[in-house]
Amino acid sequence: MAEDYITLCTACSKGLTRENLKYENGLAFHPECFEQNGSKFLPIDPDLTNKTSQLKIQLIQLKNLKIRNDGSSDKSPSLKKKSTRNTKEKTKSRSNSRKNKSRPKKRKTG
Ligand SMILES: [Zn+2]
Repeated sequence: MAEDYITLCTACSKGLTRENLKYENGLAFHPECFEQNGSKFLPIDPDLTNKTSQLKIQLIQLKNLKIRNDGSSDKSPSLKKKSTRNTKEKTKSRSNSRKNKSRPKKRKTG
């Protein structure tokens, strides 16, 4: 007997019948799927997603600003090679840093 599905379950993507349907926060679930997985889906509401994407954009913009601001400063280690002063110290610290760099290989956890 073919069931009369009206929509798909948000959690398991299987058909939902009118009798076996839990509608929550604009999403349709099986009652049991909602109990098991509902909390995973519920926090996602359009307003929140909008805010999150806006925050992400702001973050990117902030990073871009930071890169521009740090451009000539010593803060970012990748730009340190540019320094022309303290050549003596440079060679000294270089040997030191080489020693420091010999760190043990990362072990996989788990
Ligand atoms: Zn389901």
